[in-house]
Amino acid sequence: MESGAVRDVVILGSGPAGLTAAIYSARADLHPLVLEGEPSSTSDQPGGQLMLTTEVENFPGFTHGVLGPELMVSMRAQAERFGAEIMTERASRVDLSANPVGVWIGDPGAPEPTLRARTLIVATGARSLMLGLDNEARLLGYGVSTCATCDGFFFRDKRIVVVGGGDSALEEALFLTKFGDSVMIVHRRKELRASKIMQDRAFLNEKITFRWNSVVVDVLGDERVRGLRVRDVNTGEESDIEADGVFVAIGHVPSTELFAGQLETDEAGYLVTHEGTRTNVLSVFACGDVQDHDYRQAVTAAGSGCMAAIDAERYLSSLAQT
Ligand code: NAP
Repeated sequence: MESGAVRDVVILGSGPAGLTAAIYSARADLHPLVLEGEPSSTSDQPGGQLMLTTEVENFPGFTHGVLGPELMVSMRAQAERFGAEIMTERASRVDLSANPVGVWIGDPGAPEPTLRARTLIVATGARSLMLGLDNEARLLGYGVSTCATCDGFFFRDKRIVVVGGGDSALEEALFLTKFGDSVMIVHRRKELRASKIMQDRAFLNEKITFRWNSVVVDVLGDERVRGLRVRDVNTGEESDIEADGVFVAIGHVPSTELFAGQLETDEAGYLVTHEGTRTNVLSVFACGDVQDHDYRQAVTAAGSGCMAAIDAERYLSSLAQT
């Protein structure tokens, strides 16, 4: 790419929000460039979090559900069909004080940005939260995982623990019953946060058991996971649970590091938007999970991606009129 090339629309991220923004802005003849991210083991990878899920049953239009990765492959192809350009790269730095804004790919210390954008659509999503234990980090990939779809297969006939009490934890647990001998859900309270339908399914599944009111204080094992140490929040008593696999499913953090000090965030670190998808920088719009800690659904992310594309298009039209 020609250094410093100016684009009308650059989109960071390629989950449902980013790709819907790409479809809309491509159909508006704005020739968007999508930096889709790079393959990694976390959720901020091309396609976003849906690449790490199995069946998506609540995205409208799919009577019998659709696999998350399949949905994302279709959205990507749809965006390309209308002329969106997609690069398997991530932005390493942005300068939002410049106009057009500067976007770096590769060396963030390079004096000039790789490209400039009249509008920037931020759709960088969110990624898995971890418990923050030393042994959890050390044993990641050696029995500790954040993705049942990716790693469930390795735990055939094994004892599995899932940590968390939300929809993600239950979805992971239900999926893992296909492989594991047993699946125990360890939750820090006595009530689940998950939706009723997921709770019902989990309670009905004979392979799933629950350890209530328990926080994980250590992950056990030398070269591979052999269990967890938990503390009962009522009695303070610690006990060990034997397990071959530990799936951490305790929520997500927004991917906003790139914009620190440039875009306004709320107390939880999510980007603040107003009047649709506007941020505190006039030419920058945000959509999807990076600005939504409330709904966090594929369909709401896609909807806000559509809004961001329309907001960007209106902003560009207003520039053309001045
Ligand atoms: P979530 O709803 O925020 O739930 C996180 C769970 O992890 C909560 O039960 C929380 O406990 C627990 N937790 C958080 N920090 C913890 C820590 N440090 N130690 C132990 N436990 C901890 O996150 P989510 O399950 O990822 O779901 C996010 C959103 O996506 C939700 O809106 C959900 O409905 C949606 N979602 C939907 C589906 C579906 O419809 N199939 C699937 C996945 C996700 P507390 O309950 O005590 O706070």
